[in-house]
Amino acid sequence: MNLPSTPHEPTLEILFDNMADAAYLIDPKTSNIIWCNRAGYEDLGFEKNEILNHSVLSLQKDLQGLPQWDEVVKAIINCETFTFIGRHALKEGGDIAVEVNTTHFEHQGQTYCLSVARNINKRLAMEQELQSRNHRIWFALNEATDGMWEWEVETGHVFFSPQLKRMLGYGPDEMKPEVNTWIHNIHPDDLDRVAQILEDHLQGKLSSYEAEYRLKNRNGHYLWVHDKGKICERDEQGNPTYVVGMVENISERKQLQFQLEELAANDVLTQLPNRREGEIQVHQQLEVSKRSGRPMCLAVVDFDDFKRINDLYGHQKGDEVLVFGAQLLRSTLRKSDFVYRWGGEEFVILFPDTDLEQIEYITDKIHKVFSDADWSGINIPALTVSIGIACCPNHGEDFETLIKQADTAVYTAKEQGRNQTIFAASPANTN
Ligand code: GH3
Ligand code: MG
Ligand code: MG
Repeated sequence: MNLPSTPHEPTLEILFDNMADAAYLIDPKTSNIIWCNRAGYEDLGFEKNEILNHSVLSLQKDLQGLPQWDEVVKAIINCETFTFIGRHALKEGGDIAVEVNTTHFEHQGQTYCLSVARNINKRLAMEQELQSRNHRIWFALNEATDGMWEWEVETGHVFFSPQLKRMLGYGPDEMKPEVNTWIHNIHPDDLDRVAQILEDHLQGKLSSYEAEYRLKNRNGHYLWVHDKGKICERDEQGNPTYVVGMVENISERKQLQFQLEELAANDVLTQLPNRREGEIQVHQQLEVSKRSGRPMCLAVVDFDDFKRINDLYGHQKGDEVLVFGAQLLRSTLRKSDFVYRWGGEEFVILFPDTDLEQIEYITDKIHKVFSDADWSGINIPALTVSIGIACCPNHGEDFETLIKQADTAVYTAKEQGRNQTIFAASPANTN
């Protein structure tokens, strides 16, 4: 039987606009949608001009910001079809679950991404209906976390939830369901620690497994995760057979934590590491020095008559002088030396692998730099410093003794007229 011939074949535009799935052509560089079919805007309740030339990120509930988009683009470029289970936002609020398959191609020297998004709300609803009560609880937990896993201990088989795969940038059919997939994605520096915690839980030493560590995503970048699990089934002998766990992406929290730690390690005014950081590093360096038998020195540097600067020019000027003085110290020292703002107008310098003879040369240089510096830029006549030196092993071998010795030496420098360096008395001479 012959079909009646049509006088005009439908144009590509008509065909695309009658497709059930939404199609988007995207510029990977800007993330902007350059073209879409009717389902691409109507299904979400938008007008066409509200979608065209807008970033594809505005549709997405799971992608935040261009850096993340750049990672997705890398993944798209690296495979034939990139599958992504996510959510598209509706204009009126709410969202729909979508399975997005994206390909890429070159046209006239430019790369394009072509995404076809299928509304899977109906499918999910049907799946949910079919699921037993237990499965619905599993599904709800799955939705409530960033990912779940279920490990069958004996076989090494691991079920990774779609959310967990999505968090790591994988499609639903990727990630081999075995424990090695997980092990290979843990940061090498974290692996031993995480494995030990899990082992301790399996052996009953810990009531649950809980760890924070770095997990590699599809593009080779690491996410920080909080992973928590528990044995949920045992065999007749009491050996664990199933372990279930939940994973939370804590990258943002970790980032904030690192920033706070950075703040806590550095002095806000001078940007030098602070006393807290200094104490840690001096203790560490003392250990190194004792083990290697190489000397190290500490210097306490106190600005002379600093109170007068505050009194004469005000506290703000005092702050500027502190910043300038800190820069002078830092720039005079070798890269291998460390300088800390100990408090007020007092600084401590750590000279690793340095003996008394070398110190004399360096401290002379500090005095010279301070007297030669151009203080006119900050409108004060000049500033000198007094320095007290204590070395390991000559003047002591522990942190407290060395700092005390250097402090006493500064005091002597002040007494003897300031603007000079005094070495701690060697233990034989102290009484
Ligand atoms: P000397 O060198 O002989 O010890 O005299 P000095 O003026 O340094 O005496 P002292 O150590 O007692 O005073 C230090 C002053 O440094 C007192 C304090 O007001 C000031 N100071 C401490 N921290 C800051 C700061 O962060 N900013 C400013 N502007 N002043 C500070
Ligand atoms: Mg002081
Ligand atoms: Mg002072």
